[in-house]
Amino acid sequence: MAPPAPVPPVNPSGSPHSPPPSHTATVAGVPVDTRHWIGGERLASASATAPATFTDHSPIDGAPLAEIARGGVAEARAAVVAARDAFPAWAATPPAERARLLHAVADGVEARAEDLAAVETADNGALLRSHRRGVMPRVAHNLRYFADRLLALAHDDFETRGHTNHVSWDPAGPAVLITPWNAPLMLASWKIAPALAAGNTVVLKPAEWTPLTASLFADIAHEAGLPAGVLNVVQGYGAEVGEPLVADPDVRRISFTGSVPTARRIAAASAAHLVPCSFELGGKSPLLVFADADLELAADLAVEQFDNAGQICLAATRILVEESVRDAFLGHFLDRVTKLTQGDPRDETTDIGPNIHPRHVERVDGFVRRALDAGAKAVTGGGRNTALGGNYYLPTLLTDVAQHSEIVQEEVFGPVLTLQTFPDGDEDEAVRLANGTRFGLAATLATGDRERAGRVSARFVAGTVWVNCFFVRDLSAPFGGSRDSGIGREGGDWSFDFYCDLKNTVTAPKGWARHG
Ligand code: ADP
Repeated sequence: MAPPAPVPPVNPSGSPHSPPPSHTATVAGVPVDTRHWIGGERLASASATAPATFTDHSPIDGAPLAEIARGGVAEARAAVVAARDAFPAWAATPPAERARLLHAVADGVEARAEDLAAVETADNGALLRSHRRGVMPRVAHNLRYFADRLLALAHDDFETRGHTNHVSWDPAGPAVLITPWNAPLMLASWKIAPALAAGNTVVLKPAEWTPLTASLFADIAHEAGLPAGVLNVVQGYGAEVGEPLVADPDVRRISFTGSVPTARRIAAASAAHLVPCSFELGGKSPLLVFADADLELAADLAVEQFDNAGQICLAATRILVEESVRDAFLGHFLDRVTKLTQGDPRDETTDIGPNIHPRHVERVDGFVRRALDAGAKAVTGGGRNTALGGNYYLPTLLTDVAQHSEIVQEEVFGPVLTLQTFPDGDEDEAVRLANGTRFGLAATLATGDRERAGRVSARFVAGTVWVNCFFVRDLSAPFGGSRDSGIGREGGDWSFDFYCDLKNTVTAPKGWARHG
């Protein structure tokens, strides 16, 4: 008799001869579950045909960090169904109770801030000190802010011929949140907080290069008491699990932060079910330096654009300086650049860490090479930091660049700035250059003249304008971009407007039953 055929493994990554795959990776000393979080359960990928995991590497040294569950159509659907099924009960949960739970999640984030910071730095290479002191406190703040804002959400009634018109915010349903790798948990919490506060349920898909803190966040939310299915996390590649998520008929909102080509694909997919999308995309924002500016301050603002190794969508990467102060400004700028320390993002003294991935560094370098070939000059930087190797790219400033050139028009998303000048006193030309790309995310200007600041700000095509400052922003203010930088605004009540279906209830003054 022939021996029986071997039973194929349920989880293809675990061959019959190798030990079953571990579902926990230890990253920076912190155990992280590498599976999806769907319907209140940890799940590995179930596909019998596709690989069950992918490898997540650290940008710091390229070391493999974890084997992450690689989601596909089945996991996307399971997560949306879990969110759909959990929606009625969560939507019916009194706002005060939803707010209480979000504050409990914020408590959990604060309690595990050190773990979150260490894991985030290992995974995306941004500075540990900024994760500790800026980012993780901000994640908790995002949750608390929207919990409190929910309870204050109100609009005055309108009145028409004695009829009251009462406005209310109804949660829309399951929301798919797709996030990028440059600020993983910060951006996830910026979307999760208002979506959950409003009474929606959520499927979060973090970027495949930075999947880890989303998994820790799922644990924290669970431990804080968030009901099963209210928050789901699916891991994997955009093309494999992102696409079925945004095409799912049970999804009611999509919030996406990422690249323009991906936004176009999501918009096309969401059109099938007319699902509203909020897109926060790239930028090529200007920093205008007028001759009347405090040039020391202007140079500080310029150097700030190297934060996160230039991987910030808001970064003002195009410096536009009034001709007569070009050299003075450049002197202050170069003074500061020479004092920057590049190195391991876990060191307290490091100012600039690595970029995210060898493929991304290749792309950044491609932009710089082509610009240099076209006649640009690197006043500082201009290539990889060969002393450090790996993903470390020198902070770079390119001059002699033309307005129509690729380096001025396209988002590089690395530590690469360009410098152009405008003629003395020519505010019109300054504004023309500033607005002269297909983006419209932000604009920064340095000037000592209050009236000029008002005039020029009013002419910028930009979602956010900073005058003599950068990056400061109140969570109540609208945030988003114009043109190719995005669609819609989130922040404050604008977030609730997006995640909710607004309702107007008109009540007549008469027609009430008489009692007694
Ligand atoms: P980047 O080029 O900076 O990685 P992307 O726009 O490709 O930016 O990625 C941002 C996020 O979008 C990631 O979570 C990624 O997995 C996801 N994504 C990529 N392609 C798609 C897609 N077709 N549908 C849905 N999500 C996607």
